[in-house]
Amino acid sequence: MNILTFEELVNECNTRNKLIHEVIQDIEASDNDINVDEVRQKVKIHIETMKSTIKIGMTSSEKAISNWCGDDCEKLQVRYSHHRALFGKLFEKIITYSLATIEENLRMGKVVACPTAGSCGIVPAVIIAVSEDYNYDEDTQINALITAGAIGAIISNKVQLAGAVAGCQAECGVAAAMCAGALTQMLGGDISQILNAVALAMKNLLGLTCDPVCGLVEVPCVKRNPILAIHAVTSSELALAGIESKIPLDEVIDAVRQTGQLMSPMLKESSLAGLATTKTALELKEKIFG
Ligand code: SF4
Repeated sequence: MNILTFEELVNECNTRNKLIHEVIQDIEASDNDINVDEVRQKVKIHIETMKSTIKIGMTSSEKAISNWCGDDCEKLQVRYSHHRALFGKLFEKIITYSLATIEENLRMGKVVACPTAGSCGIVPAVIIAVSEDYNYDEDTQINALITAGAIGAIISNKVQLAGAVAGCQAECGVAAAMCAGALTQMLGGDISQILNAVALAMKNLLGLTCDPVCGLVEVPCVKRNPILAIHAVTSSELALAGIESKIPLDEVIDAVRQTGQLMSPMLKESSLAGLATTKTALELKEKIFG
């Protein structure tokens, strides 16, 4: 995709008089020498995979090899069989779907990395849960995922989407940003509101560390997914109300890149600091690796 910045994306949308997903699917079709229907068909497969991952994840409580994680989605469902979540049914669904997805990842199940496997429970949870609640059809879901993908791709022009390079701001942070933009589009936001949602999500996760305990994508990764799915929804709600990021989105992404460069390597997936070197983490490490 030859769109390198969000400013270029806006210009492209204005020049072609098209929405974000329409511009992106045209470019993808032309770049890959296929037609737009074929592009959409590929995205549809990802949507179907996301749904099946959620379904499988919700019925499994098998723990990961570490024995730390894998049954949180079940615990959440037990709670919601007796109590309503403070913010209602949709909130319940989003965090349940998010845990179902990320727990499938730690069981080595099939997930759609969006943008990475460790952050795979954010975008699907919101797109699928909101679609169910609002009766959004498959085309709307495909459009949302195309836009989410475009947001991730444009950010990746400046920031490598890997915890080892730029911390978790580049994984779960970018997932939340993609999700906020996709949701804003689904809820009828215009391009300015979509990009503001992305900026609001992203700038509030600047400097998020990647400090996985024992180097496993489990702690803190699993619980970070449902928490940031709700962060994305909050960003979208603010943007839909017309609340703007004072810092333009492209400048926010520059700040993400700079922050990633300034972060100590000890906080970028090396498990040499942060949560990974707490007393409990070191005890867990001793138990697992002797
Ligand atoms: S903490 Fe690190 S390993 Fe875990 S999801 Fe974030 S970037 Fe990935």
